[in-house]
Amino acid sequence: MRWEQLAKRQPVVAKMLQSGLEKGRISHAYLFEGQRGTGKKAASLLLAKRLFCLSPIGVSPCLECRNCRRIDSGNHPDVRVISPDGGSIKKEQIEWLQQEFSKTAVESDKKMYIVEHADQMTTSAANSLLKFLEEPHPGTVAVLLTEQYHRLLGTIVSRCQVLSFRPLPPAELAQGLVEEHVPLPLALLAAHLTNSFEEALALAKDSWFAEARTLVLQWYEMLGKPELQLLFFIHDRLFPHFLESHQLDLGLDLLLYLYRDLLHIQAGQMDGVLYRDQLDRLQRWALACPQRRILAGMEAILQAKTRLNTTNMSTALLVEQLVLQLKR
Ligand SMILES: [Zn+2]
Repeated sequence: MRWEQLAKRQPVVAKMLQSGLEKGRISHAYLFEGQRGTGKKAASLLLAKRLFCLSPIGVSPCLECRNCRRIDSGNHPDVRVISPDGGSIKKEQIEWLQQEFSKTAVESDKKMYIVEHADQMTTSAANSLLKFLEEPHPGTVAVLLTEQYHRLLGTIVSRCQVLSFRPLPPAELAQGLVEEHVPLPLALLAAHLTNSFEEALALAKDSWFAEARTLVLQWYEMLGKPELQLLFFIHDRLFPHFLESHQLDLGLDLLLYLYRDLLHIQAGQMDGVLYRDQLDRLQRWALACPQRRILAGMEAILQAKTRLNTTNMSTALLVEQLVLQLKR
């Protein structure tokens, strides 16, 4: 990762780190907090490379020298990365780090350590690290990474400069899901339903979600069928799948995005289409439906969502009313 890339994803973080480098005021301990996939580890390695680079250019590391390359491959003797060992970071791991860091730096006067998933430290590991943070060796930089910073000891947090990594915009979140082998159509939808990488990944990998998406496409198609057939579909197919109200809420979101896709298609904004693999079908539907009906449909879905979340109305009645509105 380069600064330009970090600045695009995390403008505030990039600015803070760059300004620290420019002014020669690098903190002795940082806490990078934010959801998975937001670039915390990459940012910590970028900082490491700049600090150890043999021919830096301004705030940027060269990315080509021996040190830059060794940091990339995890082989620099003065840059250590600690990760959970079998579910937690143990006291011995922190003690090993302390021992390593009590020796003079192998190759320069600087040392850096990065603790991944710092919230997974055992209590005794956290207490050891705290002592380490309280008596910083000159030239040592610590970077703790966490997705759950409320789980860290307050005394640790207060000794670090905290940099918050913002959640990813949906397009980048979807890209991250694709890298985890989620098919693009599911990734796009999941990334719009939540901005948590973990939640989106769990949703996208759940077969319930893929089935829900298929049913919602059928749902729209059925709106063009005779009323009895439509009601039969709802009771026979939809309800068993969207049994719980949070499931129905999600189903309504999926339907809402389908309507939004039709608007995007009418406006020629193909980049915004989420049901991208269904383009042929969607184009036919967009052609057959006037824009005011799409807008009225979205309004009706939003109202149904509100009613679902604020009243005790039966979900069956709610959906029946909604489909009759959408059918009109
Ligand atoms: Zn370099």
